[in-house]
Amino acid sequence: MPIKVDSSKCTGCGLCEKSCPFGAISIEDRAKANKPHPKFKKIAVISSACTLCGACVDVCPFGAISVTAEKKETDDIALYKGVWVIAETEGDEIHSVTFELLAKGRELADKRKTYLGCVLIGFGIRQKAEEIISSGADKVFVCDNKALEVFVDNAYVEGICGIIKKEKPEIVLLGATAIGRAIASRISGRLKTGLTADCTGLDIDHQGLLVQTRPAFGGNIMAEILTAYNRPQMATVRHKVFKPLSKDLSKRGEVIEFGLPENLKLQTKVKKFVEDVTQKVNIADADIIVSGGRGVGGPDGFKVIEEFASALGGAVGASRAAVDSGWIPYSHQVGQTGRTVCPKLYVACGISGAIQHLVGMQSSDVIVAINKDPSAAIFKVATFGIVADLFEAIPAIIGEIKKIRS
Ligand code: FAD
Ligand code: SF4
Ligand code: SF4
Repeated sequence: MPIKVDSSKCTGCGLCEKSCPFGAISIEDRAKANKPHPKFKKIAVISSACTLCGACVDVCPFGAISVTAEKKETDDIALYKGVWVIAETEGDEIHSVTFELLAKGRELADKRKTYLGCVLIGFGIRQKAEEIISSGADKVFVCDNKALEVFVDNAYVEGICGIIKKEKPEIVLLGATAIGRAIASRISGRLKTGLTADCTGLDIDHQGLLVQTRPAFGGNIMAEILTAYNRPQMATVRHKVFKPLSKDLSKRGEVIEFGLPENLKLQTKVKKFVEDVTQKVNIADADIIVSGGRGVGGPDGFKVIEEFASALGGAVGASRAAVDSGWIPYSHQVGQTGRTVCPKLYVACGISGAIQHLVGMQSSDVIVAINKDPSAAIFKVATFGIVADLFEAIPAIIGEIKKIRS
């Protein structure tokens, strides 16, 4: 392993064991570990759970732990130019996450003074290139092939890897959708580069590197990750984290056709599609969402939330606490381990505002929070805050809505 404990220096003090966020260190008897020492009876032993994060190295007061991770840089790093988005298609339509990534990609490309490219891969999708150009791209790399009629991961991966190797983009962005997640990891593995999944922010730093921000350690910290030595720098971003640009129909761009590698063998045969009936509630696309949290008190409390959502013409969301309590199905959950949403109006009722909930809804246009605790964290992100019991406030608001409508 590239991490080592120097048995001549380790005193068995145990400080490193406490510091390891992955529980990868145990303090064991030296005799059992076959590492005798004339003075010390214990030694730190590192297991395969180690992620080489390096936290324990700085903690050890005796300099007993060292990490010698192998660093293999991309050879021709200076040749990599351009910010790319991998477009995702749904039938013959483009998934809206593509337009969101194009908007962020445009900003990043302008900061890097480079072009914005987009890979459009599928079957019968060639005519969509113009829409991608009017949404911000300067170049669209199109692979329109019958073999891509249904999504088969190895065909998409081989096709995308081929064009990346040829054109050498410095940044590649994908949606953190089922398809994006399936191919992003394979592409980064093939290209031997870094991939940051589920980013909530992207920017360019003073060295021109992509700063990939994402929640870490259960959302308790926001980590800023750099891919300093390898290209392309790859990231996935969930649907609704960024906002699309308005279309500029006068924008012109270049369309470049490319093919799949010769002798490509499809590793999967799709026999039929079965509709996922559990995803009836698509809160990700709703313009208005009324969410309930633990404060609704039980499954019956959600009746008030449903009534409120229907008065506003919106969908019902929920915090994980409400979902975990079995009050409402998972498909309603908003947050880090649920859906990321960006409605025009988000109403949080009886939700405290934990970071894991906020990362899923804080980019909503207008946030209204109803909570009886004036110090609840949700009020820090709310546009309007109502300090009240939700069972008093919501019927009063519904009454007002009905009055205005009548
Ligand atoms: P609480 O924190 O218990 O808050 C309830 C709030 O209701 C309180 O602020 C209280 O003042 C208020 N209240 C009570 N009664 C009333 C009333 N009658 N009227 C008005 N207000 C009232 N959470 C998510 O939501 N989504 C996620 O995707 C998610 N992912 C997670 C992932 C990980 C790895 C971890 C560790 C946690 C995750 N969580 C997630 C959980 C998150 O940390 C919080 O525990 C959760 O969001 C709390 O839900 P809550 O706000 O409904 O409940
Ligand atoms: Fe734990 Fe990180 Fe040290 Fe590995 S490098 S043992 S994961 S603290
Ligand atoms: Fe203590 Fe360092 Fe040994 Fe860990 S490696 S037990 S911190 S001396």
